[in-house]
Amino acid sequence: MAQQSDLFKNLVAHCKEYGFIFQSSEVYDGLSAVYDYGPYGVELKNNIKDYWWRSMVQLHENIVGIDAAIFMHPKTWKASGHVDAFNDPLIDNKDSKKRYRADTLIEEQMDKIEGKIEKEIEKARKRFGENFDEAMFRTTNQRVVEYTEQFNTIRNRLATAMTNGDLPELKQIIEDLEIADPESGSRNWTEVRQFNLMFSTQLGNIAGEEGKLYLRPETAQGIFVNFLNVQKTTRQKIPFGIAQIGKAFRNEIVARQFIFRMREFEQMEMQFFIRPGEQKKWYEYWKQARMKWHLALGTSDTKLRFHDHDNLAHYADAAVDIQFDFPFGFKELEGIHSRTDFDLGNHQELSGKKIQYFDPELQESYVPFVVETSIGVDRMFLAMMSNALVEEEVPGGEGARAVLKLHPALAPVKCAILPLKRNEERIVNMAQGIFNNLKLSFNVQYDDTGSIGKLYRRQDAIGTPFCVTVDFESLDDQTVTLRDRDTLQQVRVHVDQLEGIIRERVDMKQLLG
Ligand code: ATP
Repeated sequence: MAQQSDLFKNLVAHCKEYGFIFQSSEVYDGLSAVYDYGPYGVELKNNIKDYWWRSMVQLHENIVGIDAAIFMHPKTWKASGHVDAFNDPLIDNKDSKKRYRADTLIEEQMDKIEGKIEKEIEKARKRFGENFDEAMFRTTNQRVVEYTEQFNTIRNRLATAMTNGDLPELKQIIEDLEIADPESGSRNWTEVRQFNLMFSTQLGNIAGEEGKLYLRPETAQGIFVNFLNVQKTTRQKIPFGIAQIGKAFRNEIVARQFIFRMREFEQMEMQFFIRPGEQKKWYEYWKQARMKWHLALGTSDTKLRFHDHDNLAHYADAAVDIQFDFPFGFKELEGIHSRTDFDLGNHQELSGKKIQYFDPELQESYVPFVVETSIGVDRMFLAMMSNALVEEEVPGGEGARAVLKLHPALAPVKCAILPLKRNEERIVNMAQGIFNNLKLSFNVQYDDTGSIGKLYRRQDAIGTPFCVTVDFESLDDQTVTLRDRDTLQQVRVHVDQLEGIIRERVDMKQLLG
């Protein structure tokens, strides 16, 4: 665990030191759980969004995009259930005055038990070597069986309490498990209360409740209320999807873990409209399609897993998370939800407008069902950064390097052009010529501000897949040294070949195919 938290600290420090992420309003000591993306951060973030948009909208003839406003009519949030049900259970510690999510406190306790199980399994694996049968061990080892029973009991109690909104039971679980404030160790808790996560503001020209506006807590509703507009203007036939990338806001009770849980964040959501009754098929389809999207980036399948929801959100009839192995454990990266006709049906009822689709094959009208895929841009960013950051020794006694092994298509800078001698005019001219040519195609950098070793380290740290060095030999034969970030291999290539070689590695095409 100590190692994992060091890893996380390094990652946060790296993000700041190399211009990926800064705390918002840092000069005023920051604003809790709000972050700004720096020059390399915004490039990586844009590349992630580009990959998602292309795989959804460009590759699917039956998915189209929109960009809806953040502010929506307040009735939207009544219909969607967010005014009444978008709550988290909150508990305060009376001694430390710290505030927690009751369900998270219980989940952390479950993580501890899971950790104990894993430890026993690891010990046994070492003891038995190749002959180790994990499944058998899980069902026969007395200690593991007991831990598993404990885990399942808590999980079931938590799921039932959450589904029923049973706040006294949540408090009871915390008491039964003797959960203490993680910071102060105190068990002096208040009762559990519901806390609505929506931020509200006031419309300028209308006083009181009437003018109360919310900052959207999810982008999905902008899609639902535009369903008919989009369907009619694009003449899409069901099944079809609407995709959107945009900001969402949640007044999270506990906002920790850097950009994992923010109060202002960005979502990439796609609502897929289907015939009622076909939700199982499409739910399965999107589960697999989304996992494939993640794996195409080269992320190891041991770092990704499906996790079925124990308690369903107010709108869902089936829900699964794609979890990623963050430095603080497996946590939700993306959600896939079967939302039935909950949203369209409620908007139809509250607005009094017919929101239906006439199915030409069935010759009937209905309120379509929906399967949603919803992923946080920022969580994807964190997943990619934590997956990519490696500290390693450079062979040949050159010392250690921190390198970001990002997929080249996501890397903020694709190639750095480095003149070997910055006082030699002919070399500088040639290097700048290469830079000016490549910048028409890719995000590239020209840098002559240090020794070549230092420049390489800097490019490694921001994940640049290629470095080009220009030297005296280049002047004679128009060849340059091309260095590969991951293999550290250096090859001599003709300048005319550069664009093709870089394109082959950084083109998003290879991810989409
Ligand atoms: P959690 O259980 O972690 O609070 P959630 O189940 O409420 O997440 P959804 O409502 O399904 O999340 O939102 C879809 C996606 O939006 C999540 O998978 C996550 O990637 C992202 N997301 C949600 N809340 C936040 C947040 N506070 N900060 C950053 N990303 C978030």
